[in-house]
Amino acid sequence: MTQNWTGGCACGALRYDIAGEPIAMVDCQCRDCQHESGTGHASHIVFARDGARITGDAAQFDMRADSGNLKTRHFCRICGSPTLMTFAATPDIFTVRAASLDEPERYQPQIVTYTASGHAWDCLDPALPRFDRMP
Ligand SMILES: [Zn+2]
Ligand SMILES: [Zn+2]
Repeated sequence: MTQNWTGGCACGALRYDIAGEPIAMVDCQCRDCQHESGTGHASHIVFARDGARITGDAAQFDMRADSGNLKTRHFCRICGSPTLMTFAATPDIFTVRAASLDEPERYQPQIVTYTASGHAWDCLDPALPRFDRMP
């Protein structure tokens, strides 16, 4: 059995413990991720909701994805760390932020999305498959 994926916000009030393996690891350069991260992209790990234990009372902010579907960003009420994201249309999956992991080195990005809104100063691994928007 592999080690769980654990992590949370900067102050520890919001935590997760995930038994499953990642479905995908994605660097996203969309404007929503830029606004929320304060820099050129956000790094997301997609997991199945099944097998994930989330504790703590997150503040939530709904945003409308390009698809028209609602995506909800969950961040800590105390320290403000962006930590999780859930999707109204696909409640079976959710994402955690790579840097919120207890062991962030486990993050290994597989693709880059929304390069159409990427910035020249936000340099990501050129070997990764890149998509203008969502693949
Ligand atoms: Zn916190
Ligand atoms: Zn994004």
